[in-house]
Amino acid sequence: MRAPSNSLLQGLDRLLPTYARADLTIVRGEGARVWDADGRDYLDFGAGIAVVALGHCHPAPLAAAREQLARLWHASNLYRTEPAEELAVRLSERFGGAQAFFCNSGAESIEAALKYARKATGKPGVVALEGSFHGRTLGALSATGQPAKWKGFEPLVPGVRFVAPNDVEALADAVDDDVGLILLEPILGEGGVIPLDREYVAVASALPPLLCLDEVQCGVGRTGSFFAFERLGVRPDLVTLAKGLANGLPIGVLLVDEEAAGAFSPGDHGSTFGGNPVSCAAACAVVDAIDDELLDAISERGIALAEGLAVLPGVQETRGRGLLLGAVLDRSASDVVATCRERGLLVLTAGEDVVRLAPPLTIGPEDVEEALAILASALGQGSPEAK
Ligand code: PLP
Repeated sequence: MRAPSNSLLQGLDRLLPTYARADLTIVRGEGARVWDADGRDYLDFGAGIAVVALGHCHPAPLAAAREQLARLWHASNLYRTEPAEELAVRLSERFGGAQAFFCNSGAESIEAALKYARKATGKPGVVALEGSFHGRTLGALSATGQPAKWKGFEPLVPGVRFVAPNDVEALADAVDDDVGLILLEPILGEGGVIPLDREYVAVASALPPLLCLDEVQCGVGRTGSFFAFERLGVRPDLVTLAKGLANGLPIGVLLVDEEAAGAFSPGDHGSTFGGNPVSCAAACAVVDAIDDELLDAISERGIALAEGLAVLPGVQETRGRGLLLGAVLDRSASDVVATCRERGLLVLTAGEDVVRLAPPLTIGPEDVEEALAILASALGQGSPEAK
């Protein structure tokens, strides 16, 4: 394996310190495993924060991206390109009739949704959830229900009101004539892996504002259906996807139900890199790979993982669906994440006491067993009175 160059090792202080990075330099990935600069391997149950949907360097998006790289990298949205239209058709088929706006990240897909709702309804008000996370750009941050993340960045975009998840009455009370958009994550990911109730989402869908479901983290098969909303019995007006869609190449998308389409005209919104041919070609391969067989396997692995988590020492509750799971602990999640990393397993936090698991969707039963064994050893340590 190629040794890391000096510039790689000395580069950390040349990056703005927006992340508290672990002292782990990942240089290679394959399937559910990554390797560090010293050649040590790790089982990756974070998948780059729910991004590497089919596993690292999966042959299908790799071949599609390679082929596209050799053909055309960029053309601009001033022209038509085949991969963007092919991806839009695939996503529309999965949705049941939609138009797509392509961008480069989850936050950008939320910005597109906020602007679309304003243009479509003429109303600036947004109802969003306490504890939600929608991204770091100013509009997405303004709709993120975590005041700690606003500190130092106010004033925010006005007009957003926050309500507690799954409180039907509070939601109905918050919606008045100024509100054009209700923005919900079907499972609050960063906010602690908190699933929304079916009834709650049904009420949100029946209220007059447009409903946007932010499936940036929980979409693209992660919960055992292509869209998480398929299990909730609703069809939103808008849905956002990003993270897993191109298996790690940058992409985001706002999908607009064809019945709610028509608000954007040329010049209303745009993105130089949006719909990038390489990302879209990789994304087509990802969408094609998410068939019924894989979706069943995701549900099966998710059940096994959740059952295994529930009986680990110090786990008080398990939440989530499919392969987006949270284990609520009786202790600091970041300590457990660090111990797991030392023992060869990468997992995530979601708040102070929740360990979040979002592995590649292609993991096998043996990966589930290995992850549970490392988690058990990390949790067993230093807590003799735990169950
Ligand atoms: N929405 C949700 C539900 C997310 O989990 C995230 C990122 O974690 C975002 C939006 C923002 O995505 P990005 O970091 O790609 O801007």
